[in-house]
Amino acid sequence: MYPEFSFKKEVLRDCTNENYEKYLTWQETLGEDEEYLTASCRICYKDFCFTVKKEEAQKYREYQDGAPYLIQNVFPNMSCEERGLFAKGQNMCGTCFKEMFSFYQGGAEED
Ligand SMILES: [Zn+2]
Repeated sequence: MYPEFSFKKEVLRDCTNENYEKYLTWQETLGEDEEYLTASCRICYKDFCFTVKKEEAQKYREYQDGAPYLIQNVFPNMSCEERGLFAKGQNMCGTCFKEMFSFYQGGAEED
């Protein structure tokens, strides 16, 4: 009678199950001294999830509260692109950063 509705419900349920399974997998793979940290890109709004050491997560919270850390000292094991998501004033993913960078590069070309 309402095929569209039941279809959507189905999709929703599948989605939730998938997320729940993902969550369980994460819990299993998480070490005792590790925790999950999520960051979203302020340009494309994608969410990224990282496994970090608990002390790194703690340092990051202090950094957010205004501690004078350098982001590369908070997350020494991350790549520059990954750190860009957490860096104050940047908060963008590698893809968006590259796009911006290529934009600036293009602007710097001789005309
Ligand atoms: Zn992005």
